[in-house]
Amino acid sequence: MDDQRQHQIAVIGAGPAGLMAAEILSAAGMAVTVYDRMPSPGRKLLMAGRGGPNLTHSEAFETFATRYGAASERLRPILEAFSPAALVAWAEGLGEQTFTGSSGRIFPRTMKASPLLRAWLRRLGGQGVELRTRHDWLGWDDKGALTFRGPDGPVTVKPDATVLALGGASWAKLGSDGSWSVPLETRGVGIEPFQPSNCGFVADWSPLFRARFGGTPLKGIALRFEGQSARGDAVVTHYGIEGGAVYALSAALRDAIERDGKAVLEIDLRPDMTRSRLTDKLSRPAKGQSLATFLRKATHLPPVAVNLLREAGDLPSGGALAALIKGVPVTLTATQPIERAISTAGGVSLDAVDDDLMLRALPGVFAAGEMLDWEAPTGGYLLQASFATGVAAARGVLAWLAARKAID
Ligand SMILES: Cc1cc2nc3c(=O)[nH]c(=O)nc-3n(C[C@H](O)[C@H](O)[C@H](O)COP(=O)(O)OP(=O)(O)OC[C@H]3O[C@@H](n4cnc5c(N)ncnc54)[C@H](O)[C@@H]3O)c2cc1C
Repeated sequence: MDDQRQHQIAVIGAGPAGLMAAEILSAAGMAVTVYDRMPSPGRKLLMAGRGGPNLTHSEAFETFATRYGAASERLRPILEAFSPAALVAWAEGLGEQTFTGSSGRIFPRTMKASPLLRAWLRRLGGQGVELRTRHDWLGWDDKGALTFRGPDGPVTVKPDATVLALGGASWAKLGSDGSWSVPLETRGVGIEPFQPSNCGFVADWSPLFRARFGGTPLKGIALRFEGQSARGDAVVTHYGIEGGAVYALSAALRDAIERDGKAVLEIDLRPDMTRSRLTDKLSRPAKGQSLATFLRKATHLPPVAVNLLREAGDLPSGGALAALIKGVPVTLTATQPIERAISTAGGVSLDAVDDDLMLRALPGVFAAGEMLDWEAPTGGYLLQASFATGVAAARGVLAWLAARKAID
């Protein structure tokens, strides 16, 4: 560093975005302190690790970069600067070998987040990063200092620059509850309302279907809604439906429910079989079998799928039944509460930050991670963008400090 004095940087939020910002800043010689309200860092990352943390995705970058919907154009250069390949190299640099699953999703070989987090915290400690847990950030005082409720009382800090990486507004027990939006809005930062993303949906199942099939997976299906489609698995729940394939369409479904009060999702129960082949199979003589038995034998649909067809009304026969199997309509009337969503849409408006993720209303304060207003399906896109925006915000801090020094 050409400056004699080491710049003091506060990073608030010890999730993937904040810790990544801390890594870049400390490697560049900054004195970095990471604050978090929880007793230990990375709780949502560890939760993501429970079923195997899906770090990123191996699909072509051109496709990858489109997964962020309306935010794709803004995120593209940030993802280019810290790409899925860079994320894999980073994880492997921490000793976590990765593998690519058959769906193209990339995971650590251990299928856990804890070894990665442990190695990461060791590296950060080695780079001099200080971690202050149980520090609940409240906002700024009238002198512009950051204020915290610390374990031993109020704490105020006036760093040279700040990175906010406070997460979204779901799973509050893991630390992020979106309460950070209040001090930011008060200071003129545009905040888009929080909405559930990658969430389950409420369907009006009959009591019998709910009781018998709540918790049963629907495997190898395809979903269609408003010209979008997704293949994969879902789960029938007591309240409706959730799971990977549903999450992939969750933004469009949520927006339609908000607009029209409902969304009619079409489920293709046999995506690997054409409608005419199904019609052919279903037009053969039933030879005294009940329709349900005939249907099961002819199509190999599991009981949950056969009964899902019945939820749509009396079963037709022949070609009409084949058409129903290729697109059984399920009416969704609400999202699951935001608390139970995997992630959230909304947060700091992308118009409120510049290309280096500095808040336009608050020079020297940068924002990263899920607290920014972008959303993406599950598949590694959430962690990838959280890490990449952490990198971008840290580089933004370095560029901003360098530009200020040049002016001084
Ligand atoms: C069950 C589950 C499974 C998931 N699985 C995957 C997956 O496999 N792949 C994937 O890509 N994504 C997954 N995600 C999403 C992913 O974990 C998040 O998108 C990611 O952790 C966001 O990172 P972040 O750093 O922005 O925020 P977070 O990880 O939420 O970190 C924010 C931090 O800020 C702290 N904080 C918040 N407010 C304050 C405050 N006022 N003062 C002090 N500290 C504060 C919090 O305590 C927290 O530690 C999953 C999420 C869940 C809930």
